[in-house]
Amino acid sequence: MDPVGVAAAPDAGPGPAWQSKCPWGAPNTTSISCSLADVMSEQLAKELQLEEENAAFPEVVAVAEGPFITGENIDTSSDLMLAQMLQMEFDREYDAQLRREEKKINGDSKVSISFENYRKVHPYDSDSSEDEVDWQDTRHDPYRADKPTTTPRKGFIGKGKDITTKHDEVVCGRKNTARMENFAPEFQVGDGIGMDLKLSNQVFNALKQHAYSEERRSARLHEKKEHSTAEKAVDPKTRLLLYKMVNAGMLETITGCISTGKESVVFHAYGGKSATEDKVIPPECAIKVFKTTLNEFKNRDKYIKDDYRFKDRFSKLNPRKIIRMWAEKEMHNLTRMQNAGIPCPQVVILKKHVLVMSFIGQDQVPAPKLKDVTLSSEDMKKAYYQILNMMQQLYKECNLVHADLSEYNMLWHDGKVWLIDVSQSVEPTHPHGLEFLFRDCRNVSQFFQKGGVAEALNERELFNAVSGLNITADDEVDFQAEIEALEKMNEDHVQNHGKKLSMSSSDGDPPIYDE
Ligand code: ADP
Ligand code: MN
Repeated sequence: MDPVGVAAAPDAGPGPAWQSKCPWGAPNTTSISCSLADVMSEQLAKELQLEEENAAFPEVVAVAEGPFITGENIDTSSDLMLAQMLQMEFDREYDAQLRREEKKINGDSKVSISFENYRKVHPYDSDSSEDEVDWQDTRHDPYRADKPTTTPRKGFIGKGKDITTKHDEVVCGRKNTARMENFAPEFQVGDGIGMDLKLSNQVFNALKQHAYSEERRSARLHEKKEHSTAEKAVDPKTRLLLYKMVNAGMLETITGCISTGKESVVFHAYGGKSATEDKVIPPECAIKVFKTTLNEFKNRDKYIKDDYRFKDRFSKLNPRKIIRMWAEKEMHNLTRMQNAGIPCPQVVILKKHVLVMSFIGQDQVPAPKLKDVTLSSEDMKKAYYQILNMMQQLYKECNLVHADLSEYNMLWHDGKVWLIDVSQSVEPTHPHGLEFLFRDCRNVSQFFQKGGVAEALNERELFNAVSGLNITADDEVDFQAEIEALEKMNEDHVQNHGKKLSMSSSDGDPPIYDE
């Protein structure tokens, strides 16, 4: 596990006076603002829980109203988690102090100094600034500290007589003092820089070590890119969510990561016991954590923005909430599929941006994707007919178009094909719904034609077979044009007849293309 919580706890080394008030600095001081009791209190648990809940999600709240909103069942045996929770609290406290320092320095001055770069809890992670988060490209992290300049490896500078080694006390003492300027501003180096103050190498190194370890910790918190390990890929809040699920007994153990994609991280877990009798937790679960780095989702607006089910809410929400909507969308879509009897993961619970579902596979080994499995020609043919059937069911019974259907999102398990990854699935009346369906058909058709299934329909035939439409154009371009014309016709219909009417009448009903 990421040792952020334990290993990086600030050492008791030198630091500004206020820092010694932290729980690590002086545990017996009376002004502890972050006691164990505080962190463990029901109040805090609720705060963390409720801070992000909002009235726009009545449905989700209902689903999520699980056994783990209480504080009393928190297992205090998880030292790491405790340390991490304390760390989070400490970081917050640290930032609050930083803000106070900032205010003190700036006063009423028109020119002000910002300590933004030195905050531990950055806007991305923090609760308070959540509503102000706008689209951001996290590839260029504005908060990442510059690399500190290093002293030459050889340990001396100059030539011949003028050589100065790192052991020259006076010179280095002065230099050390000057170099304190490189430290973060919360290191109150006082007037030392302006005076002829000499710092011994030992003191300087201790200070430097402390300053840099703090900087590294800050940078590490924001290292969110591709090479991140499973643990790094989930932020502390998500970890807390997962922890609570385990703690409540709903999950037995989370064994590890099975996939790290651009938009999500998927974990395997062994199911535990359900709080309610009527619900059975599957023995093995998959936990899909929708990534809260926003840049990836930005590209996918179109799937949700124009989906009338979500349209009204979309415009009012901030990006973090939109990400939760993806999880919610996947949940709703899976439920529809489940009701129609399509082989797919079964929803266990949705909690914010974390969706728990049944695991397709066995003994921690996920079922292979269709692209990775070699099927006999008989199984290949069987798979093809099954998919044709599923696509029709999906369209007619679930009123859905998968919109990312390919051999990457179909698993082969128990001698049949299972559909997964439906967060982007839309209803056929979505302004681009038919185009998405056509793309799905192209993927499926090409995969099976290449796979040697002679019976496989071509993409246009498949499109008609799934949608029940009868587009006669026999070349790709004309076909596409007709699809777009139909979409436009439907869109006009929706406009003319009012959104509201169409919303209530068509949820679950077939689309209106027969006009
Ligand atoms: P992404 O948007 O990252 O593609 P997916 O839902 O496709 O998200 O999940 C990524 C991978 O995780 C899948 O390709 C599959 O290998 C695995 N996976 C997802 N859900 C399950 C599940 N319910 N059971 C088993 N494996 C799963
Ligand atoms: Mn996928």
